[in-house]
Amino acid sequence: THFGFQTILEEQKENMVKGVFSNVASKYDLMNDAMSLGVHRLWKDDFIDELKPGKKGPVKCLDVAGGTGDIALRILDHARETYADRETTVEVLDINPEMLAEGYKRFKKTMYHNTPQISFTEGNAQKLDKPSNHFDLYTIAFGIRNCTSIPDVLSEAYRVLKPGGTFACLEFSKVTNPVLSTVYDQYSFSVIPLLGTILASDRASYQYLVESIRKFPPQEDFARMIRDAGFSTGGDFEGKGGAWMDLWGGVACIHRGVKL
Ligand code: SAM
Repeated sequence: THFGFQTILEEQKENMVKGVFSNVASKYDLMNDAMSLGVHRLWKDDFIDELKPGKKGPVKCLDVAGGTGDIALRILDHARETYADRETTVEVLDINPEMLAEGYKRFKKTMYHNTPQISFTEGNAQKLDKPSNHFDLYTIAFGIRNCTSIPDVLSEAYRVLKPGGTFACLEFSKVTNPVLSTVYDQYSFSVIPLLGTILASDRASYQYLVESIRKFPPQEDFARMIRDAGFSTGGDFEGKGGAWMDLWGGVACIHRGVKL
């Protein structure tokens, strides 16, 4: 049946995504820097600067598809450095144990290691083994496009957030400027798989990453999906109705929603 076929495809995608990240886990941070020329760091900084975790007091955060802990570390550093907050906590959740192991290893070198501020859990964004109405902040960075059902991810995000809690997503998006778009296409379809071959001996995984970026819904469609899940997207960003903020002309984009 149509539905049977769909299930097989979804399972295949989930397994394939797991495989992709198992292959790249140990080289993930290096590859991220090489492919984006370090720019992913600036985008992640912007993402956290916009969220200001800790400003209104300590927050309980869930960082989904958290991988090697880039977002978690920035949240904790921001809260501590800006607001002297050492009570904010982040749970890093990821489907891939190898990525989590890299994150754990990395946190061992930080002051957060062995404190209640950080924890790592294996889990699926589409079916969170977490209580409802529990978190103040849900973050997902460069992760949602790898999931088989975006609506499932969003409805789980809505469920686990407390009323008034914030959903925040950083993801590759649609480049709107035609000149920038041509340069970006050239770069992503030729340079990135080539870097994948040279640095990680794994062209296919990086080819997949580029293709998954192309298939992800553009800004306005994704904002609508966030609203369909029950969130309010009326923020102060420049995107329609304040729902999103483009970074580098839409190469990446921040979307936010608040649970009503
Ligand atoms: N957030 C990190 C960052 O920005 O550096 C990691 C991003 S990495 C591109 C995507 C992550 O999504 C991988 O670690 C992968 O294992 C994870 N992932 C893919 N599908 C997932 C799912 N269904 N549930 C949870 N994590 C998932």
